[in-house]
Formats: sequence, C-alpha cells, structure tokens
Amino acid sequence: MKPLKIAIQKSGRLNEKSVELLKNCGLNFENYKSSLISPVSNFPLEILFLRDDDIPEYVQDGIADLGIVGENVIQETEVEVTYLQKLGFGKCSLKIAVQNNSSIESLAELDGKSIATTYPVILDKFLKSNNIQADIRTISGSVEISPGLGLSDAICDLVSTGGTLKSNGLKPFADVMSSEAVLIGRKGSENEDLVQELIQRVQSVLRAKE
Ligand code: ATP
Ligand code: ZN
Repeated sequence: MKPLKIAIQKSGRLNEKSVELLKNCGLNFENYKSSLISPVSNFPLEILFLRDDDIPEYVQDGIADLGIVGENVIQETEVEVTYLQKLGFGKCSLKIAVQNNSSIESLAELDGKSIATTYPVILDKFLKSNNIQADIRTISGSVEISPGLGLSDAICDLVSTGGTLKSNGLKPFADVMSSEAVLIGRKGSENEDLVQELIQRVQSVLRAKE
C-alpha cells in the first residue's frame, strides 16, 4: 500500500505543536531537522517538512494527502482544499494597525492611504468588502517597521499577544481575520480509509485534551 503523506511546517511557530500532535496520535517517527521526509514506522505515513506557504498547494495538487497549516495561509493562497479539523493551536489574528500618534481612527479613514502587508490577497478582499480604496504595499517581512520608516500609513499583519506591535509603537484598530492551525485534505483522496483513520486519531487526541 502506498503510504499517505502529511505536510507540516519544517520550522517556525507551528512545527513543534504539529510534531507533538502527530506523536500523540501514536505515530513513531524521527523529527529530522535536516531531511524533508520522515517515514512513520508504525503507520503507512510519511511526514513532509515544508515551508508553511507551500503546504496548501502541495495538498491541493495531491503531492501530500493531508497538511497542517494556519487558516491565514490557506486564505492567502486561494487553493481548493478541504478543512478537516481545527487544531486549537497557532491562534492569531490578522489586524490592521497604525502608529500610536496616527490620526487614522476609523476604517473609512484608510481611504487613499497605504498599507504594508505580507497578506495582499486577504487584505484586498477585506478592503473591497468595506468599500475602501487603499494602496496595498506587498512586502515579504518585517512589516511592523514600515510606518516608522515612512513606507506606509498602516500595516496589516498577524498578531498574537500584540507585543510586537507595541514595541514598534503601533496600535491595532481593525480585525481582518482570526486564524488557527487546521488539518486540511483534499476531496477524492486515493486512500480515503487511511485518511479517515488519521482524522479519527487526531480527533481523539483533541477530545482527550478538553
Ligand atoms: P515558514 O518559514 O514556514 O514560511 P513563516 O515565517 O511564514 O514560516 P511563522 O512565523 O512560523 O511562519 O508562522 C507560522 C504560522 O503561525 C502563521 O502563518 C500563523 O498561522 C501562526 N501564528 C500564530 N501566531 C503568530 C504570530 N504572532 N505571528 C505570526 N504568525 C503567527
Ligand atoms: Zn511562511
């Protein structure tokens, strides 16, 4: 039987909790940091360690059967995948923030302003649904320093505790979306029985935590 493949983040905020969840499912594997694939010794499964941004497409295209990734990444990549289970970790929100001394106080006041983000797709939808025309400046990271450098009037970035915003002299004022890690799959997977078995295991681990 061809083993299933599950894609998880190689390193970063979701890696440790993803590995822990799979171990709690009774799966035995080495958490190799150097290799991209780890076989599971007691279940027909291989674990693919990837950058989180690539996970939705790998699952959509059938390279992986399952994946663990933040909802924010799924929304941003606009792929066709199935949400199987919310996982209760990696919680954060995508927020719009401005400098503490900014005169911008309402969403409407963003009209005509510039907003730096690494989430242009989600932000564009949000602005359109609120009838705001703003200039989206897509950058690849360190979004929170952008207003201070005079690169944008506002930012749209992921926030969990708010500490990073605060230490950069920023205040949040609008919620764009909230997100957590989810288990995703694809319709018409070749190995539906194994997929179901894994989902069951994940769900019983989550129930035991309640
Ligand atoms: P990669 O190298 O895999 O591309 P990354 O730098 O894009 O990693 P991380 O910072 O590790 O990503 O974040 C992974 C996910 O963790 C985010 O997409 C989001 O769903 C979640 N997350 C939870 N809290 C936060 C936070 N405060 N800031 C950013 N992401 C957060
Ligand atoms: Zn990423």
